[in-house]
Amino acid sequence: MAKKYVYLFGGRSTRAEGKAAMKNLLGGKGANLAEMTNLGIPVPPGFTISTEACNIYYNTKRLPKETKDQVKDALYKVEKIMGLKFGDPENPLLFSVRSGARVSMPGMMDTVLNIGLNDDTARGLIKLSGNERFAYDCYRRFVQMYGDVVMGADGHELEAELTKIKKDKGVALDTDLDADDLKGLVYVLKDKVKALTGNEFPSDPMEQLWGAIEAVFGSWDTPRAITYRRLNNISDDWGTAVNVQAMVFGNTGDDSATGVAFTRDPATGENIFFGEYLRNAQGEDVVAGIRTPMPVNKAGKKDPSQVSLEEVMPEQYRQLDEIYNTLEKHYRDMQDMEFTIQEGNLWMLQTRTGKRTAAAAVKIAVDMVEEGLISREDAVLRLDPEQIDQLLHPMIDPKSKKTVIGKGLPASPGAAVGRVVFTAEDAERWAAADGKKVILVRMETSPEDIHGMDVSEGILTARGGMTSHAAVVARGMGRCCVAGCGDLTIDYDKGICSIGGHVIKEGEYITLDGSAGEVILGECPTVVPSLSGAFGTLMEWADEFRVLGVMTNADTPKDAKIARDFGAQGIGLCRTEHMFFEGNRILAVREMILSDNEEGRRSALAKILPMQKGDFKGIFKVMEGLPVTIRLLDPPLHEFLPNTDDELKEVADSLNTDVSIVRAKRDALHEANPMLGHRGCRLGITFPEIYEMQVRAIMEAACEVKKEGVRVEPEIMIPLVGHVKELEILRKMTIGVAKGVMNEYGTTVEYKVGTMIELPRAALTADEIAKEAEFFSFGTNDLTQTAFGLSRDDAGKFLREYVEKKILPRDPFVALDQDGVGQLVEIGVKKGRKTRPGLKVGICGEHGGEPSSIEFCHKAGLDYVSCSPFRVPIARLAAAHAAIKNKK
Ligand code: ADP
Ligand code: MG
Ligand code: MG
Repeated sequence: MAKKYVYLFGGRSTRAEGKAAMKNLLGGKGANLAEMTNLGIPVPPGFTISTEACNIYYNTKRLPKETKDQVKDALYKVEKIMGLKFGDPENPLLFSVRSGARVSMPGMMDTVLNIGLNDDTARGLIKLSGNERFAYDCYRRFVQMYGDVVMGADGHELEAELTKIKKDKGVALDTDLDADDLKGLVYVLKDKVKALTGNEFPSDPMEQLWGAIEAVFGSWDTPRAITYRRLNNISDDWGTAVNVQAMVFGNTGDDSATGVAFTRDPATGENIFFGEYLRNAQGEDVVAGIRTPMPVNKAGKKDPSQVSLEEVMPEQYRQLDEIYNTLEKHYRDMQDMEFTIQEGNLWMLQTRTGKRTAAAAVKIAVDMVEEGLISREDAVLRLDPEQIDQLLHPMIDPKSKKTVIGKGLPASPGAAVGRVVFTAEDAERWAAADGKKVILVRMETSPEDIHGMDVSEGILTARGGMTSHAAVVARGMGRCCVAGCGDLTIDYDKGICSIGGHVIKEGEYITLDGSAGEVILGECPTVVPSLSGAFGTLMEWADEFRVLGVMTNADTPKDAKIARDFGAQGIGLCRTEHMFFEGNRILAVREMILSDNEEGRRSALAKILPMQKGDFKGIFKVMEGLPVTIRLLDPPLHEFLPNTDDELKEVADSLNTDVSIVRAKRDALHEANPMLGHRGCRLGITFPEIYEMQVRAIMEAACEVKKEGVRVEPEIMIPLVGHVKELEILRKMTIGVAKGVMNEYGTTVEYKVGTMIELPRAALTADEIAKEAEFFSFGTNDLTQTAFGLSRDDAGKFLREYVEKKILPRDPFVALDQDGVGQLVEIGVKKGRKTRPGLKVGICGEHGGEPSSIEFCHKAGLDYVSCSPFRVPIARLAAAHAAIKNKK
């Protein structure tokens, strides 16, 4: 039997050949159209050509030969169901050809509507409908879309013809054009397509259909689709399916409509049915922001002048309401649906799991547990750890004074402060040039703008609703967005805009509040949000499931406090070198470095000691009762010395010495390869007084806060150990100093001495090293550098290309290289625990906050991960995911 590439769906009282579980083969759209059919929901009949066919097309530029016959057969069946015939001048059937990948890629891939129209079938459509304007509206849309998507004419040039005729007639809306205008436009557009592409517009319906099918398969390969996949980690190999579906019409007049709806509010997650519609409209009109859509129900009305679907078509609204309930119960998740009403008949055109803000995702997950729809585990798994990043970032300080200059729709929440730019290209350029924070301000956005939206802090548009392109994409990206700000006008040529009477030039600051839909003049102060309400509940559930501990990397009481509030269970890495730079300490540090003898160094260190002790006391108090892991000095000493002549002079003056001496000392400290040079425990071996001072500062701080009644658990960590002997010497020193300090204070403090494992040799000899270490912390930044022989500071130049060429799946400094570096971690854990069964093991590189690396740490049996304060909740959630997934 021939391989099956074509699957039927839709029509009343039939069963589809596909179902929701067949997403990989039928794409999300096709699989869900089939599933809705099987649920008895009205879906216009059609068929899906599978992703397998796409992949054959993608590789050979030709569809598999079986497809032709299977399409012909399916087409015949659809004609039967509809009682119409494709290409027939009497009873014409029209088709849409719609893309649909495994996961939705909103606006990225192409769709063509109203296929099958030529002068003959257009006349047939007029006769059939008795509605000339409607028929030419379809015909005009078809020529415009087909000319753009399939024939490659510039869409803007075609749109310009529509704009021109509206201008000539002095009307604002497409709906103000009459049948004759539209008919004229059809021929103008056909000529324009010919002029732009050199090709005649095809009038044969079959040729049109195959042209559209191939174009949609081909749209998998467009630059914007490729960019979108890269940004969203979607594999190039999945391919898209193509859905060919009988057209139903929302543009026959005022008893027809088209709309988009969400089963819950996608911005806040509130459990209210939410949607927008337009009467006498088709396809993308609602999303494209051509006319401002109306709310589907009374609850969604923002002012009394709006007319809801619930009021004008109560029966259809009731049906829609019933369908949304059915769909949400069935899928057990918030759905994003597209519908069309033709002369009073409701048809569903799409359903999919709705994109939502992180705040909405949290609320929906928690609500659905309470409604008994899903389990706690489901709720925790539903939340993408990276997505909650949005909730941890600043919002506008409620106490701040702000000048609101415009209001729009709260399309995607959060706060954004940045300089105004007017094009996606400028956004990219400004953001890349010197990391300027920008806000992209546009009349509306389109899929070509996706690059620019990605680098912007926020997006502001003049037109479009909650389901406009800007709103949907911004929510998906977690960017703040205010859409449909009616007070905004833009003069792209002059590079200025006006909002509520305020003229703002390119490069000037504005602030957006995406939760309130406000545009604010200038830069507004922001505050860090707290983990309360539904988010707090969800994080508690995550904590119930996770096995890994989550600690933080923090060097100041302020960071420690943020991390603790976010649920950190201790400090996994406190870097002491940052403390050396603060205020006038750097002078004492430089004095120490520039001393020629131990005595000079000791006297300089004595000045640093009380300051460092003060820092530790601050941190111990904030982290009361939790372990604090402090790493002794790690970087090479020249990092503390100045570079410019002026600075050198300043240092020389403050030390009462000559600038030439300072310069000579700096030159002497120069290293060819400082990352592998005189740093880490090597400093402690050669200048023991430095580490002695640090241990003293830690232990004095611990004894003093203990006397104040604070419970402390210091863990002293020796960096860059490669040989057990290094650790043996430094541990002996540490214990000696600690004992001395505790004697002086007449008290004892529980403390640990351990090491970082960040050299391959340390991992391989972990059984030896564990004899001297009470804990290990994998410093996977250095371990990645040393395992790959790859300098992090220089890798930027070529690593990208390595990822593009698929030599490496991801940047190994972002996601742990599990096969290589991961193996060193596993060896280290195994050998270390062989010597010391209870050995406490964690990770403190950047990877400690990255979900795939956290899952690896879970499987490798680590006790904890440590990450930056703002990633603590992400790590808690990722650790819960790891535990749940690996239990199943
Ligand atoms: P996207 O994936 O970009 O959302 P779709 O394939 O869903 O593209 O098509 C966009 C819109 O075109 C739909 O929301 C719907 O309004 C309209 N459309 C698609 N197919 C049909 C059809 N068979 N009848 C009427 N309208 C359709
Ligand atoms: Mg679309
Ligand atoms: Mg759609």
